[in-house]
Amino acid sequence: MAVDYKLEGQVAVITGSTSGIGQALAAALAGQGVNVVLNGFGDPAKIEADRAAMQAKTNAAVRYHGADMSKPAEIADLIAYAVKEFGRLDILVNNAGIQHVAPVDEFPDEKWDALIAVILSSTFHATKAAVPIMKGQGRGRIVNIASAHGLVASAFKAPYCAAKFGVVGFTKSCAVELARTGITVNAICPGYVKTPLIEGQIGDQAKARGITPERVVEEVILAAQPTKKFVEYDNLAGMLLYLVSDMGSAATGAALSVDGGWTAT
Ligand code: NAD
Repeated sequence: MAVDYKLEGQVAVITGSTSGIGQALAAALAGQGVNVVLNGFGDPAKIEADRAAMQAKTNAAVRYHGADMSKPAEIADLIAYAVKEFGRLDILVNNAGIQHVAPVDEFPDEKWDALIAVILSSTFHATKAAVPIMKGQGRGRIVNIASAHGLVASAFKAPYCAAKFGVVGFTKSCAVELARTGITVNAICPGYVKTPLIEGQIGDQAKARGITPERVVEEVILAAQPTKKFVEYDNLAGMLLYLVSDMGSAATGAALSVDGGWTAT
């Protein structure tokens, strides 16, 4: 059954949407007629081809802005660009993220700074720029893509967990502060999603360990995820569409797990 989320004509910015989860969430919003501004790094020709394809497949206008999410002035420019292009901003999805895995006593200082900037500080700067616009409209939706690692920890990921736990705390504080403004602020906490990065790891691990790709998925990558299945893009898109629609108006300040049972254990 096709659900009508009644989002046609709204405007969304999705950070880090040239790949993986962000790209899938942008496509889901565009599929509902939401005009979107894409953002992220990559090969300019591929970014433009993906942008044009998303626009051609949907009723939405799709734009791109190349802000580096570690740079506050560029983030402010990204939000201003959405308003300049479309005259409003209804939805902000803070999704851009990076990862680096190492023991805490060997973690490079510059990697710590980069993870905190791209994951945590960018969420603050984009929210700060979006809130006055949303307040002026009397309605807004901010959805932060945190992680199961925003709720529970794993070894060798101290900066990533620090940033993602920070995103969850930031989400809750903003939600309480903005509760009477018509703006909701929520976090989605995905478990493992099979993005291109992880697909590569499966093959490498299978070779290194001399076991099948299926066993790598079950025993190594999804060791902590009880379903032993990856979270699919649609699992996240469904949660996002619910949150940004009027159906989601009472959900605010929540950290919503979509993680195959990981954080229930
Ligand atoms: P990805 O690498 O496929 O996509 C990351 C996106 O962020 C890309 O578009 C990239 O260009 C962009 N980006 C990175 N640094 C940037 C910067 N400085 N400025 C602008 N854009 C930048 O990764 P993904 O797996 O789709 O992850 C998306 C989000 O979901 C991240 O926040 C990640 O932490 C989170 N997440 C991923 C998983 C997973 O299993 N893949 C699980 C939980 C949470």
